[in-house]
Amino acid sequence: MDFHHLQYWQHRAQALNIENRLFINGRYQQAAEGETFTLEDPAAQRELTQVARGSSADIDLAVSAAREVFERGDWSRAAPAQRKATLLQLAALMEQHHEELALLETLDTGKPILHSLRDDVPGAIRCLRWYAEAVDKVYGEIAPTGGDALALIEREPIGVVGAIVPWNFPLLLACWKLGPALATGNSVILKPSEKSPLSAIYLGKLAKQAGLPDGVLNIIPGYGQDAGKALALHNDVDALTFTGSTQVAKQLMIYAGQSNMKRVWLEAGGKSANIIFADCPDLDKAAQGAAAGIFYNQGQVCIAGTRLLVEESIQQEFLQALRKHAAAFVPGDPLDPTTVMGTLIDQAHCEKVAGYIEQGLSQGAALFLDGREHPRSGHAGYLGPTILTQVDNAMSVARDEIFGPVLAVTSFNGEQQALQLANDSEYGLGAAVWTRDLSRAHRMARQLKAGSVFVNNYNDGDMTVPFGGYKQSGNGRDKSLHALDKFTELKTTWISLE
Ligand code: NAD
Repeated sequence: MDFHHLQYWQHRAQALNIENRLFINGRYQQAAEGETFTLEDPAAQRELTQVARGSSADIDLAVSAAREVFERGDWSRAAPAQRKATLLQLAALMEQHHEELALLETLDTGKPILHSLRDDVPGAIRCLRWYAEAVDKVYGEIAPTGGDALALIEREPIGVVGAIVPWNFPLLLACWKLGPALATGNSVILKPSEKSPLSAIYLGKLAKQAGLPDGVLNIIPGYGQDAGKALALHNDVDALTFTGSTQVAKQLMIYAGQSNMKRVWLEAGGKSANIIFADCPDLDKAAQGAAAGIFYNQGQVCIAGTRLLVEESIQQEFLQALRKHAAAFVPGDPLDPTTVMGTLIDQAHCEKVAGYIEQGLSQGAALFLDGREHPRSGHAGYLGPTILTQVDNAMSVARDEIFGPVLAVTSFNGEQQALQLANDSEYGLGAAVWTRDLSRAHRMARQLKAGSVFVNNYNDGDMTVPFGGYKQSGNGRDKSLHALDKFTELKTTWISLE
């Protein structure tokens, strides 16, 4: 029996010996206060393990270990080629253990094992490799001053970095932070979401095995209100890098202001518009892109194309094609390798998302596809693809980040109306335009207020391309060389040449 079979994964899940402790200064340990919290598998609704619950005492320990090794220079002043070799080794170990990592990801979040194996884990490995490979190829500069001076411009690691990440892509998003932060020589305290800490905890063992010096990577599972807040308020943390909701992102800015003005880099929420013009090159392909753009990962994607704007003249035809492609997303057991839609993160979140469907209907939207009617309906955590039409941009389903498989469809006439609707949002993470007209594509791309604009695709991407938002979707960018800016300070050294 191999990994193409449900029984293989069920068997592996039963046999798992889950590491559930904090990782501080190169050692797994219980929380200082001895507390734990229960972690559930949202699909099987069974307890997975009791995870050590980090609090401010553990954050203090982790920050002091991180600071000590940073000042000692074992990692921060190691040659870039040496850091590269260690991170490549970590990536190789992740590859060696990719099935365990994928399984932990699926058990923790309810996402299909197919996607954990194909997207999350390889994406995380690719990210670490990319930054490892980049770091000995980035040069400093010499400023064009007059002949009597030499001004060197270099990048130095910023120091101790707190990384706080969410539950929708736990390992991948952790690696988007760890890659550039570690490659540039920082020490990191990683605080995974209380809903999905297992893959991050597992990384501790691999980092140690790869030869990362003790204290360079510390992993503190725990709740946002205690471990997260303590990290964000800590006076010896130099920068925070965050992915999560806009609400918590704002809170982190306050914590930074209340403490030591640490740098705060935020990847927050989204409500991205996917705009289909009547001249889109291939209507069926656009419909397929639109379905994947909202229903992949059960709709729990920050850049999901949650608002579909369709030119009125093709709306009926487009909706029919969309229904066909939505039908591919049938909720099923996440451990079954044929499943492409798993459960939402937990029952409470599922109820919140279902509440939005009700709200949309009560505010005047029409139900085109009801995700509450599917083969697993009634089974907690499962919700199928849902499409609401006749959505007005003022409705809560068009304004709030629902973070579930619910698509809000609004029709428009002409470019100006499409732009006005798309930009009428407090978020600005992504937007897409489907058109055959090259000039229109460029005109739209220039005027859309979003960090990424996709033309004739939805959410294509690569490690070489920055990712992040305008407006209340955040600041700074993950991925690409631009991310290195967040984890380094610019040092200028001015030398007088007498
Ligand atoms: P969340 O904001 O509730 O939690 C994110 C992290 O912050 C968790 O680790 C949590 O424990 C911690 N946290 C919560 N309160 C805190 C506090 N007071 N102080 C410090 N830390 C605190 O988000 P979530 O529900 O885990 O994830 C979903 C959100 O993440 C969505 O809004 C989604 O758009 C966003 N997201 C954004 C991106 C992006 O790149 N822009 C990517 C993925 C997810």
